[in-house]
Amino acid sequence: MAHERSKTHSAASQPRQDRHLRDHTHDTYGLRGKLSDPSACRTCGASYHEGRWTWRPAPVDAFQTTCPACRRAEDGQPAGLVTLEGPFLKEHRAEIEGLIRNLEEREKAEHPLKRVLSIEPRDDGAVEVATSDVHLARGIGRALHDAYQGEVDYGFTEIENLCRVHWRR
Ligand SMILES: [Zn+2]
Repeated sequence: MAHERSKTHSAASQPRQDRHLRDHTHDTYGLRGKLSDPSACRTCGASYHEGRWTWRPAPVDAFQTTCPACRRAEDGQPAGLVTLEGPFLKEHRAEIEGLIRNLEEREKAEHPLKRVLSIEPRDDGAVEVATSDVHLARGIGRALHDAYQGEVDYGFTEIENLCRVHWRR
C-alpha cells in the first residue's frame, strides 16, 4: 500500500562550511533588509509591506522592484523541483497537472511568491514541475500523495539550494 518516506537533509545536519553558500544564495532571492517599504513588483504587481508580499495594491509612490518569484522566473532558478514519474502518471497526466495548477492558484492567491514556474515533460516520460517556493514544492508532493497515493520523497540539495520532491506512481 502507499507509503510516505522522508529523506531528511535538514539545514541543521549540514556541514557548517556549506552554510555561507546557502545564506548567500538565499540573499539573492530573499532581499531581506534591502527592500524599500513599500515596494511593488513591476512584473506581476505584487506589493511588499511590513515584511510580507501580498496582492494588495501598492501606494503610487511605492519603490519599483522585481519580486523574488518573478526574479526566479526570469533567471530560470527554481526554489523547488518536483519530479513526477510512473505508469499512472502517463495515463492521468492532464488530471495530475490540473491538480497542481489548482493548488498553485489557491496558494498564490494568499502568497504571491508561491508559483509554479513551469511544468515540462522529460524525454523519458517523467514530468518536472519547477516552483518559486520550497513550501509549494512540498505541498505538491503532499497533495499528489493525498489524492493518488504512490511514493513521495523529499530532499534538499545544498549546492543547488534546491528542494527536490520526487513522486512516483
Ligand atoms: Zn513579481
